[in-house]
Amino acid sequence: MKAPLSLNRRDLLKGGVAAGTAGMLSTSAFNLLAADSTKAPNANKYSFMLGDFEVSTLLAGSRIATEPQTIFGKNVSSEKFATVSAENFIPVDKTKFYFTPTVVKAGNEVVLFDTGLNPASVSTPLRAAGIEPDDVTVVVITHMHGDHVGGLSGDGGAVTFKNARYVTGEAEFDAWAKRDNKNFKNKVEPLAEKMEFLKDGGSVASGITAIGAFGHTPGHMIYMLESGGKQFAIIADTANHYVWSLAYPDWEVKFDMDKAKAAATRRQVFGMLAADKIPFAGYHMPFPATGFVEFRGEGGFRYVAASYQLDLG
Ligand SMILES: [Zn+2]
Repeated sequence: MKAPLSLNRRDLLKGGVAAGTAGMLSTSAFNLLAADSTKAPNANKYSFMLGDFEVSTLLAGSRIATEPQTIFGKNVSSEKFATVSAENFIPVDKTKFYFTPTVVKAGNEVVLFDTGLNPASVSTPLRAAGIEPDDVTVVVITHMHGDHVGGLSGDGGAVTFKNARYVTGEAEFDAWAKRDNKNFKNKVEPLAEKMEFLKDGGSVASGITAIGAFGHTPGHMIYMLESGGKQFAIIADTANHYVWSLAYPDWEVKFDMDKAKAAATRRQVFGMLAADKIPFAGYHMPFPATGFVEFRGEGGFRYVAASYQLDLG
């Protein structure tokens, strides 16, 4: 007896399957494929509608790094780190970092959240999303690490977003202003006159609200988008890895300036997103950096990368 799954190439060629499929694809299915180009392989932007907002995540670079446990899970054993990594199909000797600003067209505003490592890194995917740097009306800085403020200006101090106003957390600005920090001096301070400073609950524009999510940095803020009865969160660096930080909120991350506070913030933010099933973009999540989170038990979470949910409007 022939097993039903062993249909081979010759069977396909002589049967009507291939011809039938080709016939179907040549009509309506091809039109559908042509229209849905938002998630092409290796794309550097991913766009979708959230109510009346057009949201695009922008791949402003990626990097492969070795020895990830020098950054993540610093307070757990190498055995535990290896077991969790194996359970999640990721290696322990290498990791990949992504840098993902998000831009939102909201009415007359074009709001960019974070700016990548340098002006070119963010301008390239921004243009792919049909937006020129001069079109940006608001630049939101979630926090002031170099991979988030690097694109604000170029080497000679040339400002990237000439027509924009700037929004950032009040506590964040104040904390970095007290330090001797190159990124702050070079990238942020020259724009201080054009900056608005928000507290928890502050508004960037209609339907875009700041939420204090402190710990990664002293004034790290995340943002909730709301349009047409839908919500989407921009969680910035609340977690810097989808397994080694999001799934295990208490694992210490080198880049978290206040480790206990960052862990408490993860439990709070992901607890809210899990309870309300709110999709989100994470700056360092694997591109296109959009997903959901669910409760995993043991006080942890599971990241569920978005598939086509956001494409459905
Ligand atoms: Zn970052």
